[in-house]
Amino acid sequence: MTVVLEGEEIAAVVLPGERPPNGAEVIDVSGLVICPGLIDTHSHADNVPFLAEADTSKVVQGVTTEVVGNCGFSLGPVNPADVADLQTLMGRIFPPMEFPWTSFADFLTHADAGGYVTNYAPLVGHNVLRVAAFGSLNRAPTRVELDLMGGLLQEALEAGAFGLSSGLIYPPGLFAVEEELSALSARLGSDGVYATHMRNESVHLRDSIKESLRTVAGHKGRLHVSHLKVADRAQWGQMGQVLDELDVAREAGQLVTQDAYPYTAGSTMLTAMLPPWFHDGGSEAVLARLGSAEALERAERDLAQPGSRFENLALAAGWDNVIISSTGTHRHEGKSVAQLGHELNTSPLRAAAQLLVQENLMATMVMHMMDEADVVTVLAHPQTAFGSDGLPPGTGGRPHPRTYGTFPRVLGRYVRDQGALELEDTVRRMTSLPADIFGIPHRGQVRTGFVADLVCFDPATVADGATYEDPTLAPTGIHRVYQGGHLSVLDGTWQGHRTGRRLTPARR
Ligand SMILES: [Zn+2]
Repeated sequence: MTVVLEGEEIAAVVLPGERPPNGAEVIDVSGLVICPGLIDTHSHADNVPFLAEADTSKVVQGVTTEVVGNCGFSLGPVNPADVADLQTLMGRIFPPMEFPWTSFADFLTHADAGGYVTNYAPLVGHNVLRVAAFGSLNRAPTRVELDLMGGLLQEALEAGAFGLSSGLIYPPGLFAVEEELSALSARLGSDGVYATHMRNESVHLRDSIKESLRTVAGHKGRLHVSHLKVADRAQWGQMGQVLDELDVAREAGQLVTQDAYPYTAGSTMLTAMLPPWFHDGGSEAVLARLGSAEALERAERDLAQPGSRFENLALAAGWDNVIISSTGTHRHEGKSVAQLGHELNTSPLRAAAQLLVQENLMATMVMHMMDEADVVTVLAHPQTAFGSDGLPPGTGGRPHPRTYGTFPRVLGRYVRDQGALELEDTVRRMTSLPADIFGIPHRGQVRTGFVADLVCFDPATVADGATYEDPTLAPTGIHRVYQGGHLSVLDGTWQGHRTGRRLTPARR
């Protein structure tokens, strides 16, 4: 097969035995797979346009498009009255940055000026809408506040957002009530996607699936479950049943999809270990509670007992399995929270509290909490797309290896080495399926008239290099990446030009 490129487009696909057009330069990639540029459905690389150094972690994996703004966290809109609250919230995972914009459109204008390494398909985040409307308070919105959030969402959609994301374990999204989420997602109509980091991925995983389905059911909306996982040793083995429940909803006509990453560890901000009430009032209030013996005592009691419908990562993972991955000062990176407790001669929670105070809440973690068999089960499902869930670039430390390895790991470890997934179907779920889920026009297929986003990889050698110990090692076997007809990666090396575009959603 020969793919003929002309300008930014695929001008023709010439089948074996047919002649390519005269005068064309022919690049022989025989032995390699040519496929559409890969689409990372779950990225947190929203800040790439604002970084001086280009983040090439995804493009060298063959990713040409990243869906950003996930888990309720987008970089806009911003209410200038609440900018300090937003800045300290976002500072828990993003490297320090300014928010000099207000509306979502204004934010996109700033991002456009910085330029994109991969194509940028932004969602707007529910946490950010909530902060803009009424800060970080532990209560439901008033009618007026809900209308305000809805108006900001509408503006973001008109400016080019692909949908709404929620992160219901993070403040202030964890204070959201179901009516609030369904009222907001109803504004998406049938075009936009509601992508959710569900309220609970461990003990109450099944309830969370039901809640997510109910959220979009009333308006027949599109649900996308982010990083589907079974995050608690006591719940391991349930992935098949969880997928069955989603299949039942699909068969009943609901538009439901999911994504996953190929690892048994998760990663997020360290403050996600704290119980929900700890977050009421925003970062100042969190810091005050971290310094209060009474608050820590109550938190310790709460985290020791299951029962609440909120996520309890302390119980789900266990403190031994929670590894500090980055801190503002880079101290303690690579240690478990349990180990830090031993060193400081205190309980794990109190050790984490001391660290959070010292780091002004700027700390992330990697939590080892899933079962390999559940991971393989979700990766193999025909409606599973793939999302790296890599945390924002620029914090340093020891990030989760998924940032640098997700796509080559699926193709190497699970397709070739284990034979657990089929190559063509996996490529479909890395390309045309996500283009369809998010409504990304003219991408995701090798087809005449489509944009020439392409990857050539060697199925015999493709592999991830990144490990938990050495998480930024590059993958192997990704030979060429084209974005809009431009060669952006050659033999694993980024060619130095920000050839990504900001994408706008299809109307459907
Ligand atoms: Zn998430």
